[in-house]
Amino acid sequence: MQMPFHSSSATPNDPSWRTGLRLPPKDLRPQTEDVTKTKGTEFEDMFLRRELLMGIFEEGYERPSPIQEEAIPVALTKRDILARAKNGTGKTAAFVIPSLQQIDVGKNKIQALLLVPTRELALQTSQVCKKLGKHMGIQVMVTTGGTTLKDDIMRLQETVHVLVGTPGRILDLAGKKVADLSECPVFVMDEADKLLSPEFTPVMEQLLSFLPTDRQVMLFSATFPMIVKDFKVSLPRALPLLSVLTFLLFCRTNA
Ligand code: ADP
Repeated sequence: MQMPFHSSSATPNDPSWRTGLRLPPKDLRPQTEDVTKTKGTEFEDMFLRRELLMGIFEEGYERPSPIQEEAIPVALTKRDILARAKNGTGKTAAFVIPSLQQIDVGKNKIQALLLVPTRELALQTSQVCKKLGKHMGIQVMVTTGGTTLKDDIMRLQETVHVLVGTPGRILDLAGKKVADLSECPVFVMDEADKLLSPEFTPVMEQLLSFLPTDRQVMLFSATFPMIVKDFKVSLPRALPLLSVLTFLLFCRTNA
């Protein structure tokens, strides 16, 4: 079976800081074009913090996948992004990496809000944040419906830099003024097609009102069916969430 990604060990030419990394075993399974068809950008070219690069390499990510290569540099300029790429092509790290890069761990505030439609995805996404950010001292909290609100309230008394969760629960916490999003500059929606469904849209809009007006909005999805169909007409109506300038990234491998 062809696997999208493989990981790799450090090469002898690595800078010295890389020699102390605990790299996972080399994965020699063949990769598909979804993840190999890149322009040749390296993670080191992205001006990422050393501690973040360490987490990336220790996860076995040798170089960015196409969607990461496209999205990360744009996201780091704080522009809004609407990105589409197939499942399994590394979308999670494409928004987690720029989100983590922008966090000041010395600041006891939620600085990235990562919204997903399901509890399972919330748990997976928070794991990616923890792994990639493990050398940064980042505090990640995951919150979803179906768990005790009291536990979340207690957890929010402590430091949280990245809040990952489902919209309803986070709106509840923000509405109760337990989750302070007033200094959160990064707002991400994964599986954004689902989060922009009529069921979620009012919640998303209310949630956005708790963030600063100059926040960055990043939307990631494998599909944007309605929006893409008639982009110019439907985007402003379908996405009042986005500010005027949106940077579109439709991954080449998805064409
Ligand atoms: P998507 O969100 O697009 O469905 P994921 O983010 O879940 O894809 O990534 C799929 C798999 O690829 C995960 O196991 C992840 O750890 C791995 N992965 C992501 N980016 C890279 C990379 N640059 N190099 C190697 N593996 C990667």
